[in-house]
Amino acid sequence: MSITAQVNPSVNAAVAAFEASDLNTQAYQAQRSGNLQEAERLYLLAIELKERSSGPNTMTVATSRGMLGEVYLKMGKIEEAEDNLKKAMAVISESGASSFNAAVTRENLAQLAEMKGEMGEAKALRLGGASHTVACANSECTRQRLRIDVLKQCSNCKSVYYCSETCQRIDWRGRHKRYCSTPTR
Ligand SMILES: [Zn+2]
Ligand SMILES: [Zn+2]
Repeated sequence: MSITAQVNPSVNAAVAAFEASDLNTQAYQAQRSGNLQEAERLYLLAIELKERSSGPNTMTVATSRGMLGEVYLKMGKIEEAEDNLKKAMAVISESGASSFNAAVTRENLAQLAEMKGEMGEAKALRLGGASHTVACANSECTRQRLRIDVLKQCSNCKSVYYCSETCQRIDWRGRHKRYCSTPTR
């Protein structure tokens, strides 16, 4: 293989990877500021670029799909959320079920199950991680995955977990109160 044949494609790939990462950062900023439609648009662009430069079933694509899935959850687009979160989980779980990425993706799948009224399934998803690691259900929480035994759970449904009462209050007002129900045992 000649040197030019080696260098040019790798330079292009590096530029594409940089642009995709920049798009992803902009998408995340739009998501955090509540501009969900802009976040959706930018994540879709980032995913397209990442798929072209690194392939469809890579961790970098899965990470963006997981974040896009979270945006779709907030938009109430259940089918799109499910499609992206399941594709993300298939790749992320192979790299280790105890990672923060895996815990957050499981939490988002659990919130999707809550929206479908499947509280038992939601709990099972949250408890499905290695070493009983769970992400706090407040999506704004910046704490990393935590062990289940140090988390607080919703005293009513006992299906959802938080790092603190502050996070529980935020998620209750913004989301969980719509889905919380006493599970049938
Ligand atoms: Zn928290
Ligand atoms: Zn509850």
